[in-house]
Amino acid sequence: MAISIKELTSNEDSDWCPGCGDFGILLSVKNAMIAAQLDPHKTVIVSGIGCSSKLPHFINANGVHTLHGRAIPFAEGIKLANPELSVIVDSGDGDTYGIGAGHFVSAGRRNVDVKMFIHDNGVYSLTKGQASPTLPEGRKAKSMPTPNINGALNPLAIALMAGYTFVARTESYNVKEQTEIMAKALKHKGLALVDILQGCPTYNAAYTSANWFAQHTHKLPETFDGKVKNPKDTKEVNEKRMNALGVLLGETPDSMATGVFFDWENSDTFEERFMSRGIKPPSSQSIAGKDNASTIQLDAALDSISVKD
Ligand code: SF4
Repeated sequence: MAISIKELTSNEDSDWCPGCGDFGILLSVKNAMIAAQLDPHKTVIVSGIGCSSKLPHFINANGVHTLHGRAIPFAEGIKLANPELSVIVDSGDGDTYGIGAGHFVSAGRRNVDVKMFIHDNGVYSLTKGQASPTLPEGRKAKSMPTPNINGALNPLAIALMAGYTFVARTESYNVKEQTEIMAKALKHKGLALVDILQGCPTYNAAYTSANWFAQHTHKLPETFDGKVKNPKDTKEVNEKRMNALGVLLGETPDSMATGVFFDWENSDTFEERFMSRGIKPPSSQSIAGKDNASTIQLDAALDSISVKD
């Protein structure tokens, strides 16, 4: 049954600052859920900590607001427990690429069917604007006493090399493009990263305004095609990955492309490999027998963790 924006809209009011790019991302996530025909009752949105991580509160779907940097393992666990669910990680750049960096890289090795929509504004905005891992060297956000002394990491390049099977970038004030890319990610089978350049008018206005994005981002050329045609052709997969890396390495912080860099519909997801070993997800296990007695044997498990004298 088709869902509407109204049905997806929570009664809870957002407390983001006026003009925050998170509003555009929120609308785009709802649009993309509709375009991909996700059932909100079977969708789980998982976030970590940060301004962006409040998003699950503002959508009428299942939401889990977790710990700093830990959205990815929560999401992986949810998907493994019930592969029938659509699972989205919606979190920030500091949360995902900083505190959660280990999980971000390791997720690529597994290819769990989880979609990651990462709000990338270059700062830890909830804690007053410190430099995040994506703020380029030499840039100074509002609350920083001196320009950034560290270089920026490139989350798309890391995702490509870690094994993500869908890698894209978009921009928070461009709802049309975001919706299209997010919908593609939601329909993709496998681990997807959508890095969203996000406006933070409070702490990083100089480099994240709608005007700045209009002047410093551009669409990938129409001739660029990141879609792998033959998923089993390793040569083609590597060529498409190299092409995407080539574009990314040719960019500067003042000139970045948006669009789908890499799309490899690899059928071999982690949960499929897991189940091929004969392990049933908990959601498909019976919990009671014919007499309604529990079939879950807890005693042995509890015995194994009890502290004995
Ligand atoms: Fe948005 Fe920045 Fe305000 Fe956070 S501090 S709500 S990211 S504008």
